[in-house]
Amino acid sequence: MEKQFPEGMQPVGDATFSFACHKDVSCFTRCCKDVDLTLYPYDILCVKNALEIDSEEFLRRHTFLVRGDNPFFPSVKLRLTEEALPACPFLADTGCGIYTSRPSACRTYPLERAVDRESQSGAAVTSV
Ligand code: SF4
Repeated sequence: MEKQFPEGMQPVGDATFSFACHKDVSCFTRCCKDVDLTLYPYDILCVKNALEIDSEEFLRRHTFLVRGDNPFFPSVKLRLTEEALPACPFLADTGCGIYTSRPSACRTYPLERAVDRESQSGAAVTSV
């Protein structure tokens, strides 16, 4: 059965994949604007260390909480700048200002994790 993936998405499967972020790629710095970025605990540690501030100050200055359906697990989101086109506060003209300490979502861009499911049963497909 032919799979229907969201527009622009292709499964990588067993193929190798490589990507380098630099000024000559068409998406350079675009992925850092108008972005919905969830931060995980390790992201927070890496970035606050890069900024040489403590976790409390980082959370206060650069994040906000989103409460979803589960009241016990709020998500920590990166607070963007307040420009017409909001951007990551760590974005510079030359690219990411915290590149070696950037969050996991930035590290894996342009890949996205997904679960392939059987269309009938909804069961996860274990081999692709
Ligand atoms: S942390 Fe760096 S790579 Fe990630 S959105 Fe901000 S500027 Fe872009």
